Formats: sequence, C-alpha cells, structure tokens
Amino acid sequence: MIPVSQPFLPPKDEYNVLISKIWDTKWLTNNGMFVQQLEKELLEYLNISSLHYVNNGTVALQLALKSLDIKNEVITTPFSFIATTTSILWEHCEPVFVDIDPKTLCMDPEKIEEAISDKTEAILATHVFGIPCDVEKIEEIAKRHHLKVIYDAAHAFGVKYKGESVLKYGDLSTISFHATKLFHTVEGGAIVNNTGEKLDHQITLLRNFGYEGEDYITAGINAKNSEFHAAMGLCNLKHIDEIIMKRRIITETYEQFLGNRLERPFISNDIQYNYAYYPVIFETEEELLFIKSKLERNQIMTRRYFYPSLNKIPYLKNTYSCKISESIAKRILCLPLYSDLHLDDVENIAKLMTGESRNELTYNGWSRIYRF
Ligand SMILES: *Cc1c(COP(=O)(O)O)cnc(C)c1O
Repeated sequence: MIPVSQPFLPPKDEYNVLISKIWDTKWLTNNGMFVQQLEKELLEYLNISSLHYVNNGTVALQLALKSLDIKNEVITTPFSFIATTTSILWEHCEPVFVDIDPKTLCMDPEKIEEAISDKTEAILATHVFGIPCDVEKIEEIAKRHHLKVIYDAAHAFGVKYKGESVLKYGDLSTISFHATKLFHTVEGGAIVNNTGEKLDHQITLLRNFGYEGEDYITAGINAKNSEFHAAMGLCNLKHIDEIIMKRRIITETYEQFLGNRLERPFISNDIQYNYAYYPVIFETEEELLFIKSKLERNQIMTRRYFYPSLNKIPYLKNTYSCKISESIAKRILCLPLYSDLHLDDVENIAKLMTGESRNELTYNGWSRIYRF
C-alpha cells in the first residue's frame, strides 16, 4: 500500500542518544534543555528572530488570536484545514470568509476590503500547500484598516519569498510540526512573532498557564511541549535539507508525467518552495472520484485535501458564498508525497492516472482531456 503521506523518521540511534540524556537528567517537560535547543536551532535554520515552540499547530493558532486580544470578526480563508476556522470559533470570534485566488489557492486580496466591517479585527490567511499568500497586498490593506495579520503557515516550513522566510510576514505566523507535515516533532507547532518583545512575553505567559513564579497574571493554557518531542525535532532538523531535496525530485517526476496534463496551483519565481504537497485539480468532481477509486484499487491512497470548502461546514452561524473555493475543493486531490516514496511508484501512479499502464479502465470525461 502506498499512503498519501508518511512521516520521516531519523535513524533510531540518533534519537536514542538524545533520549538517553533525558534518562540522565529526568527532565521531561517544562521548557527543558531540548525544547530550548530546538527553538534556538529553528531560529537559525529559518533565519527569524522569535519563535515559541508549542504542543501543536492548532493551539498555536488559538494562542495567536488570544495574545493579540482578537475578540470579534476575523477575515479568513475557506480553503484550508479545519483548524484554521475552528481556532477562530474556539476563541469566540466570528470567521468571515473571503474567496480564494484560483491560481494560488490563497485568499484573494482583491476581495478582502468588501468583507471588512467595523467589527473586523484581524485577517487569518493560510499559505496553502506552502504557497505564500499575496503578503504585500494583505499587509497594505491591514495597515490601511488597522487590522492584525496572522498567517497559518502550517504548510510553509522552509518556504522563502523573495529570498526571506515567509514566516517574517504578518504580526504572527503559526506552524504545525505534526507527524504528517514536512518537518515534524510527532506533535508540535510554533508561533513566530514579528512584533517585538511585548508579545513574546504575552505568548510565553499564555503558553504556561498565565503565571510567572507566584504571580497569576492572566488566564493562560498549557501549550508546552515535551523533551521527547523536541528531541525528535532536533533529530529531524539535521535531515531537513535531504527531506526537501527528495521531495523536490519526486515532485519533478510527477511534473514530468503529469505536469502539462493537469491543472496545478501556480508558484511564482519569487518563491523558493518546500514541496510540501502535490495537489492536482481535475475538471470535474466525477473525474476526481474516478481517478481516486482507480488508484485505491491499486493500493494507492490519495486525499481530498481540502474538502469541503470551510464556509460549508455545518456548525457555522452565518452563510457565506465562496464560489471559487467551493468549486476547487470538489476537484482537488493530493497525490502521495513523502521523502521515501520511490520514483518507480511515482511513475506508476502517473501512468495509472493518464491511462498509459496496460489493462486500463477508461472514463469518457477523463479521456476528453487526456490522450484517448
Ligand atoms: C495541520 C494544520 C493545522 C493544525 O496543526 P496541528 O499541529 O495538527 O494541530 C492548522 N492549519 C493547517 C493549514 C494545517 O494543515
């Protein structure tokens, strides 16, 4: 079976060396040595100035909203993982959906201003699949209307825009280090703060129950992560360049077989990409379902990522229409991509999709676009 994603695991010996140290010190959590070391190494690797390691990417989003004291309407994207929306709801804020740009699949900045009301406090946009939002336009709009900007950069580890980490944009950016992400610490995440020390202090406080010594300053939460998780991160970080390189080669192999046959999100030359996902966009949902089940019969797993469009989830108070996101969510499929995926398998997946492998089932809609 070929899964849609598979976590990278470092050589066991490398992890064991660090784990033995935990046995020596018996320090398991609460801002331990490995947590501090991981934060330091991530700052260096990403070339950013402030990062707070937390226990997952969803809590990172919640802390981001909380630390900026956001309480009302948040303009957000319908094309993202469910946690982008639920973190807004969990903080008792109102998500206001703005449709996406069909090329980049990120929030369309041209549609932001018409969604701003006197209750709008922030923009929470996702660098979806690691493709940066139009950060310059969003910044300009946010300045003009005095809005805070948070980027859900869960997919954007290692992505550069005009030579600099994309995490440098927005007041805050959040990342996920979940096992399915490009760089992982089993569970984990981080908040990148671009606003200075005041917010660093607030995030540190909120991450640790809201108290300092014997001073109970604010109602915080437990967002700390453990030494075991940080140790996994330290091991994985040593292999990250190799992980990204292998993913690039896999992506180029897909491109070679599928690139000019299937619609793909647009990645501009300003972007140094991380090869986090390989999404393809079909002409119709029927075509997607046909290919998905065909691959499944061949033990190849794919994922409808993201489906449905988040403005359509059933527990929202208000209804929003986001035609582009709704249409793309029905037609987009992520193909298997992980560093240990064999190139032979990539070729096989592509050939099954294009009908070039033998004993094919064919499909009228599909063949309309492809060769027969
Ligand atoms: C994975 C993900 C999250 C949540 O991160 P967790 O670490 O799983 O909590 C948030 N947003 C996006 C876009 C994601 O893909």
